[in-house]
Amino acid sequence: PQLANQIAAGEVVERPASVVKELVENSLDAGATRVDIDIEKGGSKLIRIRDNGCGIAKEELNLALSRHATSKVHTLDDLEAILSFGFRGEALASVSSVSRLTLTSRTAEQTEAWQAFAEGSQMAVKVVPAAHPQGSTIEVADLFFNTPARRRFLKSDKTEFTHIDEWLKRIAMARTDIHFVLTHNGKRVRQYKPANTDIQLQQRIAQVSGKSFAELALEVSCEHEGLKLSGFIQSPQDPVQVDTHYFYVNGRLVRDRLVNHAVKQAFAEHGYQVAPAFILKLDLDPHQVDVNVHPAKHEVRFHQARYVHDYILQALQSVLGQMPM
Ligand code: ADP
Ligand code: MG
Repeated sequence: PQLANQIAAGEVVERPASVVKELVENSLDAGATRVDIDIEKGGSKLIRIRDNGCGIAKEELNLALSRHATSKVHTLDDLEAILSFGFRGEALASVSSVSRLTLTSRTAEQTEAWQAFAEGSQMAVKVVPAAHPQGSTIEVADLFFNTPARRRFLKSDKTEFTHIDEWLKRIAMARTDIHFVLTHNGKRVRQYKPANTDIQLQQRIAQVSGKSFAELALEVSCEHEGLKLSGFIQSPQDPVQVDTHYFYVNGRLVRDRLVNHAVKQAFAEHGYQVAPAFILKLDLDPHQVDVNVHPAKHEVRFHQARYVHDYILQALQSVLGQMPM
């Protein structure tokens, strides 16, 4: 199983940012409202994720680390209509196969916290008592210590940290209700406070995409026959170049040319030759979309791609059409 885990790790764990992604998504799946992300040396030395989610019961600590152990998908229908982030049950097993991983957790029912440790091929056998409030802390030390070829492939600490920071911006816009704190080498770099009011939301958008975008962006809010599009697109009149191109399908960040195309076309049809920044969320019946296309789960396949494209296009055209001149 160790080799299988390392092979799977090649697909799931490309670099520190992919570890952060998997662990933070687990925290969100666990219902956390606050997630602290501590990084040392771009993540190659340490990635520590602390959450206040439901925690993992003592008896399940070992199970959580084993391959294809997931508490989230029980039936084939679950698999077809995935709403939680995780569903393959291989992230923790994969990460622990290429690092020194410590899992500390306490559920609401337990009076004590417990800790399990896994290092490369030495899977956790012993679970020891520990001190921890309700929730989980996962520490990933010395990533790729036992796969030197991959460790050499890592870029500078700064570059690896930037990947983490950029990914966090995307999740911070998907989950504006969550409090995220990011530190690097002991220094607090980002703090995204929960955005429960319009003003707080605008502050978060400004943190992610700049003040100009936050102030001038056009709001999108459309619903039609089970398709819902919401979010913000950069005003054609905003002169600031912003690199925000975030698209979420059912809360999941995806890369899809369809939306880029629709946005560009909507702007072009209104005479704007700019490719604007956007933060857009599409919600639809999960049966209408496949997310299980790639292990990193960035890709989606819409069953009715043309229909979705045209819906986005029309929604944006109507927003642009209402824009004050
Ligand atoms: P998946 O997310 O696909 O289920 P993972 O390997 O990422 O698989 O996690 C395995 C299991 O460990 C999860 O199904 C969940 O039950 C548990 N788990 C992992 N991280 C956390 C966390 N932060 N809080 C609570 N449970 C967790
Ligand atoms: Mg997971």
